[in-house]
Amino acid sequence: ATSPESRPFEADVAKLLHLMVHSVYSDKDVFLRELVSNAADACEKLRFEAISRPELLADDPKPRITLTADAANRRLSIEDNGVGMSGEEMVEALGTIARSGTKAFIERVEAAQGKEGAHLIGQFGVGFYSAFMVAERVEVVSRRAGADEPSIWSSDGQGTFTVATADPADAPARGTRVTLHLLEDAASYAEAWTLERAVKAQSGHVPAPVYLVEAPGVEPRALSDGAALWLKPKADISKEDYAEFYRGLGAFDEPAVTTHFRAEGRHEYVALAFTPSAAPYDLFDTERSGRMKLYVKRVFITDDAELLPRYLRFVRGLVDSSDLPLNVSREMIQESPVLAAIRKGVTNRVLGDLEKLADNDAESFAKVWEAFGAVVKEGIYEDFERRDQLLGLARFRTTASGEGFRTLKQYLADLKDNQTAIYYLAGAEPERLKASPHLEGFRARGVEVLLLSDAIDSFWTSSVQGFEGKPFKSVTQGAADLSLIAKPEAAEDASAAEATPAVTAFIDFAKATLGEKVSDVRASDRLTESPVCLVAPDHGPDRQLEKILAGSGR
Ligand code: ADP
Ligand code: MG
Repeated sequence: ATSPESRPFEADVAKLLHLMVHSVYSDKDVFLRELVSNAADACEKLRFEAISRPELLADDPKPRITLTADAANRRLSIEDNGVGMSGEEMVEALGTIARSGTKAFIERVEAAQGKEGAHLIGQFGVGFYSAFMVAERVEVVSRRAGADEPSIWSSDGQGTFTVATADPADAPARGTRVTLHLLEDAASYAEAWTLERAVKAQSGHVPAPVYLVEAPGVEPRALSDGAALWLKPKADISKEDYAEFYRGLGAFDEPAVTTHFRAEGRHEYVALAFTPSAAPYDLFDTERSGRMKLYVKRVFITDDAELLPRYLRFVRGLVDSSDLPLNVSREMIQESPVLAAIRKGVTNRVLGDLEKLADNDAESFAKVWEAFGAVVKEGIYEDFERRDQLLGLARFRTTASGEGFRTLKQYLADLKDNQTAIYYLAGAEPERLKASPHLEGFRARGVEVLLLSDAIDSFWTSSVQGFEGKPFKSVTQGAADLSLIAKPEAAEDASAAEATPAVTAFIDFAKATLGEKVSDVRASDRLTESPVCLVAPDHGPDRQLEKILAGSGR
């Protein structure tokens, strides 16, 4: 065997380890979930590789994950007979964190204080490194499927690790064994009852059976059967089963909506999709891909098949198809009409379930909208076919919404006489928008105005024709025609946009002074308290879109 060579982790990794170990993050069980899910992933990868190379399965075709408790030595091992890793793959996979958001994540955790930082770590899903929350040393012995020579990776999580060839007699015949030398205060993870409790709570539905060896040399005992939850009849699945499975996908919250159905007929597939109740930290990361896995007849194929449109990228889950061939290629996936049909079917169901939630439990839906509304609104802009449906689902802060939300249907039901448009003001957060002088004339007439605070709002409002026949109109745009809408009696004489000689003289003065900088100066109904405001031309971008296009953001 070669002598181990010491290598540094990527700088980010050392930092992350420090953060994790020293965070107030208390739910240490998470490490076990991460390691079991890696073991299950490895079994699924092997199943996939074995489609074209069945010899990889050798005489051990059934996936298996075995936990061995060794209380006497304060040790725990997690072993799988999955795809395994070569020495090089271990350097690559365990010495770097491949996720693009790592750096941004660390910055946010460092910026956040106490509880919130801990919460972020939870959302991130720290993967393999979470082992160092409970271990002073971690050893990984692995033999790649189809290769002879095993390798061993070892680290105390303090900034360096080593990789060397391993003693074949002490390595799994195929797959990976992760051994944790537990910290004193994590000694209970070497005890059977702790492991049994944690596996049942977190990993009961991973798609490979989990066995427990209560002490070295004892016969293994099954903790879970590895049956795919999504293939069970809905009636046999409890809310808690669903929630556990959802968290097994890497989530830390409760699902707000669970969509589970079997499509039959022209295309046969099962879909299980969860709408989260809390937003992940990287929701707006442009690199962030969807979180829907594609299976074919229970075999995991890929997690970047774009099974849902981008504006539903917060939904987690899977589709298991019976129609696609197991050796489906990336190109095939992209062009497959089967996939297009699945995408359509799953999108419709997820949106349908969101509509049901909106109808039956407005409060829960408001939370979902709070977390993901800004993303769903991208669909109003992008998904022409479902535009009206998405506009119907959308919730808005308005000058009449108070702390709650309003729908466009509610807005239209309260239109004033002669009001022909849905008015909006786009830009900063609602509180700041409310102070805008542009609203004065609308407020005086009791005309409701949508307060749009997300960057995407400026885009869809400029491309959408309208809703139920009423166009969207920015209050910053030209002469939004307020003169036809009556003011309440009392306010009648407060102002009148009449061209008295004094006003005409002022307008001439303003035009002469501002020259080319403005295209027009005119008297208007829109103000009641402020003397002047800037408006955009009647046609073309409104003020906020103009700012975004000019690259100045808000
Ligand atoms: P993720 O699972 O999200 O990729 P992890 O930090 O959990 O991130 O794991 C990093 C990588 O290490 C995995 O992508 C995989 O390549 C490798 N790995 C971890 N555990 C195993 C295992 N038991 N068998 C094979 N590869 C593994
Ligand atoms: Mg993992």
